[in-house]
Amino acid sequence: MTERDPNCLFCRIVVGEIPSDRLLEDDRVVVFRDVNPQAPTHVLAIPRAHIGSLADLDDDDGELLAALFGALRRVAEDGGITDYRVISNVGAGAGQSVFHLHIHLLAGRPMSWPPG
Ligand code: 5GP
Ligand code: ZN
Repeated sequence: MTERDPNCLFCRIVVGEIPSDRLLEDDRVVVFRDVNPQAPTHVLAIPRAHIGSLADLDDDDGELLAALFGALRRVAEDGGITDYRVISNVGAGAGQSVFHLHIHLLAGRPMSWPPG
């Protein structure tokens, strides 16, 4: 983990170099709307620190994970959203395109399974 990678898109969003539509933030995480939404509600929860993906977490990163999922739960509660899907793509083969850990929350339309 590094605090910030100047070439990373989401690190630039964290510091405000790239604007984002933020719903919630605290000292560890930021939640903002996805620029290319795949559902009526599509938000991303990210750590402020630069972490490439879930694969780069350590066994003692439980508090950060709780902060990320807790932030998404609050966004859902605040929006009256009861049915939603959370996803984190790990690796290009699984669909990861931004290599700064992010958890998607999608809601507002029927969801099929399995995902494509
Ligand atoms: P991934 O494909 O890595 O799982 O998800 C990356 C997500 O970031 C995509 O859903 C994409 O639409 C979103 N994204 C990419 N660039 C930007 C941006 O500049 N601003 C915002 N808000 N979302 C972005
Ligand atoms: Zn980053």
